[in-house]
Amino acid sequence: MVEFQKMEPSELKAYYADLQTEYEKIKAQGLKLDMSRGKPCAEQLDLSLGMLDMVEYKSPSGLDCRNYGCVDGLPEVKKLFAPLLGVKADQMIIGGNSSLNMMHDTIARAMLFGVTDSVVPWGRLPVVKFLCPTPGYDRHFSICELFDIEMISIEMKEDGPDLDRIQELVAEDETIKGIWCVPRYSNPTGITYSDAVVDGLARMRTKADDFRIFWDNAYAVHHLTDHPQPLENMMEACVTAGHPERVFIFSSTSKISLSGAGVAMMAASERNIAMIRKQLAVQTIGSDKLNQLRHLLFFKDEAGITKHMKKHAKIIGPKFELVFEMLQTQLAEAGIAAWNRPQGGYFINFNTMEGCAKRVVQLAAEAGVVLTPAGATYPYHQDPLDRNIRLAPTFPPLSELKKAMEVFILCNKLAALEKMIR
Ligand code: PMP
Repeated sequence: MVEFQKMEPSELKAYYADLQTEYEKIKAQGLKLDMSRGKPCAEQLDLSLGMLDMVEYKSPSGLDCRNYGCVDGLPEVKKLFAPLLGVKADQMIIGGNSSLNMMHDTIARAMLFGVTDSVVPWGRLPVVKFLCPTPGYDRHFSICELFDIEMISIEMKEDGPDLDRIQELVAEDETIKGIWCVPRYSNPTGITYSDAVVDGLARMRTKADDFRIFWDNAYAVHHLTDHPQPLENMMEACVTAGHPERVFIFSSTSKISLSGAGVAMMAASERNIAMIRKQLAVQTIGSDKLNQLRHLLFFKDEAGITKHMKKHAKIIGPKFELVFEMLQTQLAEAGIAAWNRPQGGYFINFNTMEGCAKRVVQLAAEAGVVLTPAGATYPYHQDPLDRNIRLAPTFPPLSELKKAMEVFILCNKLAALEKMIR
């Protein structure tokens, strides 16, 4: 293969015609492949099957988990997961099965009642704004859309979101109430925030006294290598900076145990947690403690989680490798796309030639391969350069992933050639 930019117009046309023939043949195969969402595959879910055989219902301290109560979760389960979030157990709330649910409710409560330092509930203000590092997690942006929170895109750099820009904005605009952060193996960029970014976010001067960092550490232990890049402790950074109330931390076991039946958790300062616990007690008498107990008995301790995550890495590592290898050998030389090589998490961040992402997704769909919609990784679904696509390699079996990637690579070439020939 030759770099497309170096090809003569006649060569580009001939190559395009060949690829079109190939594309029509693939279309005729009637494929039905899905690479759209970062879901674990069945083999990964099987790793936690043992949990379902557990019939124990007494917690280690003797609580009958079949019954009502314990609104913020079993203390032993808080202890199990506290190191995951880098907090003290009494700074935690154990929730239901979804951390997204907890993020949604945290925003809803802030809109209705404000947070600990609010003068008025956010929802009573004429405008509320959130900073959104992009590309980012589409479901964070959907929460903002639902609550009519104005989103401001912040460019993601190599070591996290553009700190200078963030500092500039929050210092002068008191309607900016928060920022979404996926600090480790960010969805979809795979970036882990540097110490400088963590410290900067913790320290910065914000015009809003009730500014909050939504620290969604969904991929805290989801490493693909044996030597993970460290992530500075955000809670400690906030305390050291004199802003202990600034951070809400979220995570879950959705991609540790079972995506549909895991355990979600959040953490914040004792003052924040006291306020949330009081509000939560009106909403529920308690989450599913049997599931919390199953997780405790299954994982036992932090080492148990680490060991389990290595089994996940063994299953999904080869899928990531396959994608890297195919992109490298079949697409790199064309010089029409760029991608990252994450050290963990669930995604590969892919940039097509500018102005081609929507077309690539459309071409792939017509050939039977579903990708995350182009634009989904940006607020309001607007990718200004129409180039970003989130690749999710974990769910399909290797053979299907290979086929899907062949189609994806072909569609990239077709979309780029269409643009260049025009
Ligand atoms: N946050 C991020 C960054 C995610 O990628 C995901 C899963 N796609 C979630 C949250 C969802 O978490 P949960 O299953 O705990 O609701």
